[in-house]
Amino acid sequence: MSLLLVRDMRTLRRLIRPQDLEGTVPDWIQAVRAVVAQYGSASAAAAADFYDAERVAAQVTGRFTVPLLDPPPDGQVDNSLRWATKDLWPRDPEDPKTTEAQKLPLDARLDAAEKKAEAVAQKLVADQGRGTVQNAVQKDRMAVGYARAAALGACAFCRLLASRGMVYKQDTAGFRAHDGCNCGVIPVFRGQKFELSAHAQEWERLYREYAAPYPGDQLRRFRRAIAEHG
Ligand SMILES: [Zn+2]
Repeated sequence: MSLLLVRDMRTLRRLIRPQDLEGTVPDWIQAVRAVVAQYGSASAAAAADFYDAERVAAQVTGRFTVPLLDPPPDGQVDNSLRWATKDLWPRDPEDPKTTEAQKLPLDARLDAAEKKAEAVAQKLVADQGRGTVQNAVQKDRMAVGYARAAALGACAFCRLLASRGMVYKQDTAGFRAHDGCNCGVIPVFRGQKFELSAHAQEWERLYREYAAPYPGDQLRRFRRAIAEHG
């Protein structure tokens, strides 16, 4: 996750005044929306540069201009941030629907909300870059598909998907990311043979050996295999 984004998010946190949540959370949401838009455009632009470079490296002929993805609609950003801050609001401790998280002191709830909001912002920003590459793959007739690049410390779900290699662009399942997911999208072009990274090859081997023979239980088995042998 971008350190600058984290720094900006932490600065914005000061906009929230605990004694006046109702008056200050909406201002904070608006400010975060602006930060997400700013970093999101940078993320889309960087993704376009990356796409161009990959295209050149694959010696693809013919011109193609990567369209930059639009920022997410305001409503989507607002909903995500409302979700991140929902435990801030005072609750009746006697109400059986009040969760343990909602009963914590305000300081702890603020810290938890900040962490969630940072993860939400990171995902919205990264999605704009990932979405730009995916959209380019769909539009570029010289692109055949894409692969997932998972970081070494990625979760089992992401490593499993990364170990599967290239997905054809006709496969419309799309690229699923979660909060805190640092996975990237790598375009694959006509005439290019996609090869798994050394890490992904190892994940693929672990999957085949320890998880593949157990349909219905593969993700759990794979998670255990990477914990024990990864
Ligand atoms: Zn991921």
